[in-house]
Order: sequence, then structure tokens, then C-alpha cells
Amino acid sequence: MDCIFCRIVSGEIPGDVLLRNEHVCAFRDVNPVAPAHVLIVPNEHLTSIESLAADDSELAGQLMLAVKEVARLEGISDNGYRMVVNTGADGHQEVQHLHIHLLGGAPMRHRLG
Ligand code: AMP
Repeated sequence: MDCIFCRIVSGEIPGDVLLRNEHVCAFRDVNPVAPAHVLIVPNEHLTSIESLAADDSELAGQLMLAVKEVARLEGISDNGYRMVVNTGADGHQEVQHLHIHLLGGAPMRHRLG
């Protein structure tokens, strides 16, 4: 298994894991760009959003619910946060395992892109 996020999900290598359930795993980004920077990933290896199939709707929902739960755990629910899902080459996706960046703990820059 040469996917770094699969190895964190399986526990083969350590991660700063905040949440783990049968569907998803959430761990702190090793190179944070915000005071709170957590990655939420499916346990199953999916390369990107583009790998989601029509019958993955439950998993997609579980990812979103995990974002909300991690925000609560990080204490940023009330002040707000940003989700980013880099996808493919133009999206500058570096790790080829679907992940949602949860960013918060300080005001985000107004502009996207
Ligand atoms: P992306 O450009 O969306 O693919 O971002 C990949 C993210 O994964 C980057 O923010 C990296 O800092 C983060 N990352 C890479 N390796 C690890 C790791 N072992 N543990 C936690 N985060 C990682």
C-alpha cells in the first residue's frame, strides 16, 4: 500500500487522529496553513471526488458530517471555517486519496482561487 493516507487510516503509520469511524478518518495536516487544519478522508481508497460513484452518496454524506463533528471538536463551529477539496492537476491535488481540508481558527482570506 503506497498511499500515505491509507497507511494513516490503517494505523500503519502514525497520524494525529481526531476522529475515526467505520466510514472516515480525520487527522491533523502535517503542514498546517491555519490554526485548525484537519484532513477528513474516506477509509476506502478513492483517488478524488472524481472517483465518487452514484452509490457513494452515503459516504459523501458521512464525510460532510465528519467535517461538522471535527469543527465541533476543534471549537470552531461558532466562528466558522472553510472546506477545501483540491482535485486533480488544476486543483493542485498532491495526495491522490480524496480528502477535505477543514481550515479555521482565524478569519480566512476573503478571496478564493
Ligand atoms: P492536497 O494538495 O490537497 O493534496 O494536500 C495534501 C495535504 O496533505 C497537504 O496539506 C500536506 O501537508 C498533507 N499531508 C501530506 N502528508 C501528510 C501526513 N503524513 N500527515 C498529515 N498530512 C499530510
